Amino acid sequence: MPELPEVETIKNDLDKKIVGTKIVLVNALWPDIIKDVPFEVFARQAEGQKIIAVQRRAKNLIIKLSGGLNLLIHLKMTGHFLVAEDSAEVTKDGKWVKAKNKHLLTDKQNQFIRIIFYLDNGKMLAMSDLRKFAYIKLVDDKELAKFLDKYGPEPFDKDFTAEKLGEILAKKKTAIKKVLMDQSQIAGIGNIYADEILWASRVHPLTPANKLNAEEVEAIYENAKKILSESLKRRGTSTSDFRDTEGKPGTFGEFRNVYRRTDLPCPVCGGPIARITVGGRGTHFCPRCQKEIK
Ligand SMILES: [Zn+2]
Repeated sequence: MPELPEVETIKNDLDKKIVGTKIVLVNALWPDIIKDVPFEVFARQAEGQKIIAVQRRAKNLIIKLSGGLNLLIHLKMTGHFLVAEDSAEVTKDGKWVKAKNKHLLTDKQNQFIRIIFYLDNGKMLAMSDLRKFAYIKLVDDKELAKFLDKYGPEPFDKDFTAEKLGEILAKKKTAIKKVLMDQSQIAGIGNIYADEILWASRVHPLTPANKLNAEEVEAIYENAKKILSESLKRRGTSTSDFRDTEGKPGTFGEFRNVYRRTDLPCPVCGGPIARITVGGRGTHFCPRCQKEIK
């Protein structure tokens, strides 16, 4: 699932490629990607609107339109946006048959186009989503603010300090891994980065959050910022489906230390990486470097 670095990568790409353009036409290959209203109603409202900004909050992508409207997008498991020239062609079942960019034609992760926005700058914005969990909603500014209100602080917010993280963790008796992934507590961290952050901090994923000492909280805080920004620099992790708006994978996966490295040697101690389930999610850690505290 795209997490903060992946959604931010898409946001940065779209900021350069689609802001200032107008939506000319929307074509849904899978109309159910639109939530709350029938696709026709959505298309009528979106067509003719200008794209004035692209933002990210937690793992949500927000495309701000003229007239106080917003496309609120959650990419869920496998959703990603691709930008191509508007003469590119996609079959009814979402496969590229004509495109200048070879990644669109050859990478199988890009062959699940569900919706296309044709823009007035000669480009199209298409979403590929293998699993069909991604969604798009059209919401006004008020609904958007209400929806985003439930999220915890962003790791890169200026007022998100180690002290603030300590306050959040002190209130939680649940496993630290679960708290890191809880979007209402801290926004944008999911399974990949929670595993990497805890390994780098030498904290066992099952440690109750309120049992962490000040040094451990500080380590988690620093490592979260370091690892997320490192991944952003490398345009995200593509160990599964993630692709950028050119249809290309990010390269942070090559630099990961524990995530999906079960039985491979820990880069610090050489012992085998273990896999357990925490909150229903596969969790990877080093039993030697990350000692359990009960
Ligand atoms: Zn180790």
